[in-house]
Amino acid sequence: MKKHNFSAGPSILPEEVLEKSAQALLDFDDGLSLIEISHRSKAFVDVMENARILAIELLGLKGKGYKALFLQGGANTQFLAVALNLLENRAGYLNTGTWSDKAIKEARMFQEVLEVASSKDANFNYIPKKYVIPSNLDYFHCTSNNTIFGTQMKEFPKLDIPLVCDMSSDIFSRSLDFSKFDLIYAGAQKNMGPAGTTLVIIKEDILGKVSRQIPSMMDYKVQISKDSMFNTPPVFAVYTSMLTLEWLKGLGGIEAIEKENFKKSRLMYSEIDLNPLFKGFAANADRSTMNATFSLTDDKLKIDFEDMCKDAGINGLNGHRSVGGYRASMYNALPLGSVETLVEVMSELERKA
Ligand SMILES: *Cc1c(COP(=O)(O)O)cnc(C)c1O
Repeated sequence: MKKHNFSAGPSILPEEVLEKSAQALLDFDDGLSLIEISHRSKAFVDVMENARILAIELLGLKGKGYKALFLQGGANTQFLAVALNLLENRAGYLNTGTWSDKAIKEARMFQEVLEVASSKDANFNYIPKKYVIPSNLDYFHCTSNNTIFGTQMKEFPKLDIPLVCDMSSDIFSRSLDFSKFDLIYAGAQKNMGPAGTTLVIIKEDILGKVSRQIPSMMDYKVQISKDSMFNTPPVFAVYTSMLTLEWLKGLGGIEAIEKENFKKSRLMYSEIDLNPLFKGFAANADRSTMNATFSLTDDKLKIDFEDMCKDAGINGLNGHRSVGGYRASMYNALPLGSVETLVEVMSELERKA
């Protein structure tokens, strides 16, 4: 039986994407597997090119001075790449949880980092508001969606300095004015593809302003000049990401998927709020449409609830260890029907209790 996959990452991909990428492992180009041909072959160069074009197009950034890269090392590597490429004196970071915290730690190895605001005082269950961002910073960094805590930024500051954002867990999920951002990065494995590649979207004119030497692999300018192929790219991850972006375009792009994502998260949160056996973790105004965090009000129901989930084919619902409870990740590829199944189990538990 196909599972209802609520895993936080790596996570669900569209069925047709899995089928096509499985097929490409066997026969991609005239009897050869995708993973046994040269990355310099026309067949693969076209994939890379297409993936980059689709990413820019879907984000509405075509013709606006942006470049897309598919790099390696995960979002974690971007924590230091961002600092290496952009941090000359001092940068500002918004601390909204584990991932921001890690980004701050890496950047501090190079220069000064100002923590502009933090929600650590409440175990990151909200997004700080009304903070002041000094204008003499090299850039401001934020995390759009906090995968672990289930919070999501609904508004972004308008700045005169570059705005950098880790969008690993909500890229391509909602309409935003992406041209507000100067650098966006996202590990593929939450909402775009398998682990192994990281999408980086850069406004080219912010580069070349630091005085340090940047190691080639970490240098965005080098990566841009080599069309994301400075070294051998992760061909399977890039191909599968390209298929997911094609799937999204076919559905009508970000605006179309956003409507589905709202339906799913509205259904999920209304059950969490109305069912007395459950309570939400994140502050209402900052709730994520991608990751809903919640727990049981009575721990004695844990075994019953988890058994019922298992019987219904629900997978990947465990909360992160730093929050506990449950987390339902509702990425783009998760069907509404999976959320309906989970909500039915939750109401069935209430009827039985
Ligand atoms: C998962 C995640 C990361 C870490 O990504 P890796 O690709 O494993 O390095 C960073 N930021 C956010 C917001 C994430 O959800």
